[in-house]
Order: sequence, then C-alpha cells, then structure tokens
Amino acid sequence: MNKQKLKESMQRNCQVKYGKSIEKAVSYQIWNSLSLALLEEIVENWNQTQEIYKKQKRAYYFSSEYLMGRALGNNLMSMQVYDEVKELLEEMHINLNEIEEIEEDAGLGNGGLGRLAACFMDSGAVMNIPLSGYGIRYSNGLFSQKIVDGSQVECVDEWLKYGDPWSIRKDDLAVEVTFDDFTVRAIPYDTPIIAYGSKNVNTLRLWKAEFLESFDFELFNNQEYDEAVQAKNRAEDISRVLYPNDSKEEGKLLRLRQQYFMVSASLQDIIRSHKEEHGLDFTTFDKWHVIQLNDTHPVLAIPEFIRLLVDEEGIKFEEALAISQRIFAYTNHTILQEALEKWEMDLIEQLFSRISEIIIKLDEHFEATLADKDYEEEVLEQFHIIQDEKVHMANLAIHVGFGVNGVAQLHTDILKERELHQWYELYPEKFQNKTNGITPRRWLRLCNPELSALITELLGNEDWVMDLSKLDELEKYVNDESVLKRLMAIKHTKKVQLAEYIKETQGIEIDPNSLFDIQIKRLHEYKRQLLNAFYILDLYYELKENPTKEMPSVTFIFGAKAFPGYERAKAIIKFIGQIQQLVNEDEEVNQKMRVVFVENYRVSLAEKLFPAADVSKQISMAGKEASGTGNMKFMLNGAPTFGTYDGANVEIVEASKEENNFIFGLRVEDIAQIEDEYDPQAFYENDKNLMRVIDSLIDGTFSDGGTEEFEELHDSLLEGTSWHEPDQYYLLADFKAFKEAQEAVLTAYQDEMSWAKMCLMNIAHAGVFSSDRTIMEYAKDLWDIKPIRI
Ligand SMILES: *Cc1c(COP(=O)(O)O)cnc(C)c1O
Repeated sequence: MNKQKLKESMQRNCQVKYGKSIEKAVSYQIWNSLSLALLEEIVENWNQTQEIYKKQKRAYYFSSEYLMGRALGNNLMSMQVYDEVKELLEEMHINLNEIEEIEEDAGLGNGGLGRLAACFMDSGAVMNIPLSGYGIRYSNGLFSQKIVDGSQVECVDEWLKYGDPWSIRKDDLAVEVTFDDFTVRAIPYDTPIIAYGSKNVNTLRLWKAEFLESFDFELFNNQEYDEAVQAKNRAEDISRVLYPNDSKEEGKLLRLRQQYFMVSASLQDIIRSHKEEHGLDFTTFDKWHVIQLNDTHPVLAIPEFIRLLVDEEGIKFEEALAISQRIFAYTNHTILQEALEKWEMDLIEQLFSRISEIIIKLDEHFEATLADKDYEEEVLEQFHIIQDEKVHMANLAIHVGFGVNGVAQLHTDILKERELHQWYELYPEKFQNKTNGITPRRWLRLCNPELSALITELLGNEDWVMDLSKLDELEKYVNDESVLKRLMAIKHTKKVQLAEYIKETQGIEIDPNSLFDIQIKRLHEYKRQLLNAFYILDLYYELKENPTKEMPSVTFIFGAKAFPGYERAKAIIKFIGQIQQLVNEDEEVNQKMRVVFVENYRVSLAEKLFPAADVSKQISMAGKEASGTGNMKFMLNGAPTFGTYDGANVEIVEASKEENNFIFGLRVEDIAQIEDEYDPQAFYENDKNLMRVIDSLIDGTFSDGGTEEFEELHDSLLEGTSWHEPDQYYLLADFKAFKEAQEAVLTAYQDEMSWAKMCLMNIAHAGVFSSDRTIMEYAKDLWDIKPIRI
C-alpha cells in the first residue's frame, strides 16, 4: 500500500465531506475519511471480483440478520495494512485505537444466527467462494441496552449516526416491491467483504425501503402536511427496525412485509442479473444460482420466486416449481417451537394475495405427491404447508428445498430422530449436517493480537489465519513450560484490558488476578443464566458460612440482552443485578468473589470479553442449543468449556478431550428418560442449599421493586403455568451437578501449569470450528461451487 496516496485520499475525502482538513477533524470525521480512503483502495478489486463471479455459479445467502459489528479494524486487518496505517496515523498525531472505538456496531441481528451470517460472509470471501449476502438495511438495529439499578432499559440503536462509509448506495439498481395496498422502492446498499490473503472482495447487499416519491405533493399543496408524509413513513417503516414488536396485528403485518420486501427485492435482482448474463433461458437457472435460506424468515422467497417466473416471465407453474426445487436449501437453527414460524393465512392474503394462491397450489401439489404413500390421516396432516389456516414456513422450505441442514451434529441427529423425523423418513436424501463455525480473523487475529503473535511465532508463519487446522501443531508445546507461561501472561494482559474497560464504562472494579468466569449470550430461559445465578448466590452463602474456604478469587461476568417483550428474561437480569449488589457490597466476601453484568453485549464488546475469559459458560439444557458459536470463540481464545452435553459443546469436547473441559449435567437421553415424571419439587425439598437460593426470590432477600416478577420466576420453577410445566428447562435437576463441576474448576485453577495445558489443548483443537471449514462444506455438499480467485 502506498502510504502517501492513502494520506492524500484521506485529506481529500475530509475536505469534500466536512469542508476541513484532517488536522482540524474530530474523531468521527477522521473515521469516515479513513474508511473512504480505504474503500477507494479496494473498489477496483471489488468490481473485478463481481465480474468474474458472474461467469460461474453463485450462491446467495438470504438472511434477515447480519450481526456485523465494526468494520474499520476488521477491514484494515483483511487488507493487511493495520500496522502500516496505525503508523501513518501516529505520524499525523492520530490514535487509531480511538478512531476504531468511536465506530458504532452494525448490529443488524439478534444473536448467534446473525453473527453466523456475518462469519459466513467473511469466510466466503476468504475462501474465494462467489457468495453474496442479501438482507435488510434496518435504520435501527437491535436496541442498545442500559442497565439502570440492575434492570434492562432499551434505547434506540443509532448505528448510522456518524454515517456508513463502507456502503455504497446504488440507486441505479433499485427495484420496486408491490404489496396489495401499496408499492415501495427497494434501494440496495452494497458493503464490501474484503478477503484476508487474496484480492477477492465479496458483496453484502442490504435493501432499504423508500417511498416512490419523496412525499405526496398534492396533499402537501393542500396543506395537509401530516397526511403528505404518512405514505412515506409507511414505506420507510419496512426497513426501520429489526423484529418490530408483533404482539398486535399491525406489528405482525409489518414483520411479514419485511420478509417479503427482502426476498422479492433480492430475487428480482438475481433474475435481472441472470437475464443479463444468460438471457431468457430459465431451464438452466440452477446451473448458475443457488439460494441458502437462513432459517424460516426468508422462506417466502419460494412462492415469490414462483410468482416472478410465472407472472413476470411467462413460465408454467410446474416448471417454475421444478426450478425452485433445484435452487433453494434451508438451514434449521432451532427446535424451539416458538421460533418455528407459522403465519396466519389471512395476513398473507391481506398483503399479497397472489402469494397465498401460490402457497395453496404448492400445498395441493405436495398433497397429491403423497397420495400413494398410504399415510394415516394425522401423519398426512403434518406434511401440510397450511394447517389450521396457518402457513408452516419450515414445511414449505422442506418440501421445496433440495437440502435441509442442522447446525451441529447433535442438533442434526435430533432433527432426524425426533423433531423432523417424519420428514427425514420422507426425504432422507435432503438431510445434512453443517456444524457452525466462526471466523478466525475477527475472533482471534483481530480481537487477540497478543495471542495471534505468539501462535505465529510458534508456528513460524501466519498461515493459520487462513487455514485454522494448522493450530493442531501447537499440541507439541503442551509440556513446554515457557510457552504455557507466556500463554497465561497473555491471558492476564487481556484480563487487565477488560478490567480497565469495565472500570471506565461502568465504574466497577474487578481483579485481573481472579478467575474470569464468563457467560455471554442472548438472555433466554433455555440458556439457563438463572441456574448460573443460583450457583453464584449459593457460593456467596457458602463463603458467608465458611470465610476460609479454599478457593481462588472469582469474577462472574454476565452479558446478555433480553428481548423487549420477554418479561421473564428481564426479570432474570434484575435478579442477577440484585445478586451483583449483594455480593459486591459485602466486604466479607468481595475479595473472594464479584459479579458483573456488562452493559450492552454486542460484537465489539464480545471482542473484548472472549480473549479475557478463563472459563466459557455453556450451560443450556441438553438438546436446546442447536449449536452455539460463542463456545467456539472462547475455545479459540484458550478458555475451557464449562458446559452441558449440548449443541457444538459435544464436538468441542470431542476435539479437545473431556479432561480439558468441565462437562456436567443431564444429557439428551437422560432427559428423555425422566421427562414424563420429572418432579422439581423433590429436588427443591431434598437440597437445603437449592431451597435457600430459590426462596431468595420470594422471602424478601431481594427486591423486584414490587412488580412480582421474582415471584413469577419462582412459580415458573415450582408451580408451572398455563403454558408450561414447572421447571421446563431442568435447572433444579442440574443444580447439584453444576455445583460439583464448578468446584472442580475452582480446584483445577489453582494449579497454573495444568490449567495452562487445558487452555493450550483447547486452542490447538479449535481449528475445525473455523467458518472457513463450514463454508467449504456448504459450497461442496449443497451448492456445488468451487473457489475462484481473482
Ligand atoms: C457469538 C455471538 C453470539 C452467539 O453466542 P452463543 O453463546 O452461541 O449464543 C451472540 N451475540 C454476539 C454478539 C456474538 O458475538
């Protein structure tokens, strides 16, 4: 890279955008100017890559979520100019770190599913796979979280407040999306996905919804000002927020509009490009295109594709269906019933009646294909796309899609054997496993440069960044004390950095010499943050009774957002807040243990947390966490897993061996055994310690501010409710095993060298969890696509 040229470009961009020189610019202006200058550097490669991709088969990832995080640091790393640019800025008296920190996260997703999409984008580019992402450019991403007096407060996320220098708005590629009541314009914003180690630059194309005109001139002229902008607002609402509240019908309609908006715009774009490259021949469409549906949110793409071919291109329904059966594949991300989307037929009819006609036709078609199978009536009913006037999106995807994949081996097995068993029997050839992965660029090279440097030194080169299986070779250092000591020194450095950040942002002091035990993930009952909280409270009581208990000091760290409408999840945050206060303010114990709930868990904060963890807490009820990817980020940064035999934990333990992790609790098959007669009350009555921590919810130990939320939590465990049995996630049944496993952690941590070995063994066997491996499996087994390098 030419430093002088970059500097000139920064100056130029700053001058024309802000009317001042870099020397006078403030942080966000420097961030924009630098980003634009870097964009200038790659734009030619970007265009070239897209031209080359057009000549061969391409894959499109359809996802309602992309949890991208920050772009600047990642792109500097991908372009391999990080140190150079840092130096250049220093010469200009600018601190790169400060510039990076002012960037808002692009938080256009909720959790693991959205982050997976972002990791796949990165791996697609690095592996030189012609893969493009399609989604929605929400004006506001997932809410930003404040913790006020221990409770979650939601604030709007304004990720665009300083601009979005990495995206290019392409008005010339806008398309129209028509609902039965109005039409909107979909405008693509393209973001480059820059490959580390090659010149390929892939594309993430996100659509923004706009009104066809800027406002209704006639109404405005009639001085009806509010009415004049109403239609404009209604159009823009479509890409305003991720997962709008859908407790009422208006909200449901908006979500459905978003889904249709995204798939219709994306398909029109793909069809237009197909026609430009390959003319009007649609019979070969599947030779050129394949679409991966990330969960059920984009499944409306199937009837919309058929509609576009039949109504716009004059192709027969049967032919259009046959083509769609060769281009769509579906990824299942969960077995939780509430997440398997079912849309009421009359909502679909209201918004796009033609789509409802096509869905009915599809349902009839598949019913006819099953006619000779001799199914019983009830079995047959389960295969229907429409049941009780509701459209089962997963059923639609499984019937039409050529592939159905789970996201970890255990999850895929559960799909085949249980949740989707009848589907597996009907279409065994469609089912595949694709264990999730994470990008080693962001989740090691970028977020942990200290550990990266050590690995590079030990392996002799940086090849591991693009081929993570190279980490295997680290195993030979497992008895090398100087390497193990350096590993622990790096961990300490990362803990110091995190402690400083927490002190600065939340004013809470934690001790970097204590064990950092971290649970960070969305707040959900099945993930069992409450079980962790009960354990921590129990440990507190134990220390009160036995202040000389032999143990290292421990810092328990939580980070989690609770979905705004999920009251119980918010109550759990409040409960953790109360425990935090009790423990941290108690001079008798706060040298031995502390609790911190970090505010606003998101990608950029995750990058500070994973490298600083001593223990990775993955304690979901067995069978409920499809894969998990946070578990992989911890592993890659050298933290043993403390977890249940669930999701990808199973494969993590298989790779790094059970003795290097802390596995506890009921397994899937154990739960299957006891589920019919599970009696949490018995566990409660037979364990005084468990009783004490559960009672703390109702005996006045803590205050929920008079809301009765804690009582509701208590009852959810012991009484059950109209919609579920008591303790549906088996917290009480796993409490004792949890505690024993945690005791084992506290003991093991006291032997520094054997602990360091466990960390090293985890790093050395994390290679298989690279999303590069995952994306190559998709390319080979599902998409039939080979890499092409520019
Ligand atoms: C990796 C990641 C997740 C997923 O975490 P799980 O523990 O797998 O649920 C969620 N949010 C963010 C910000 C992440 O980086």
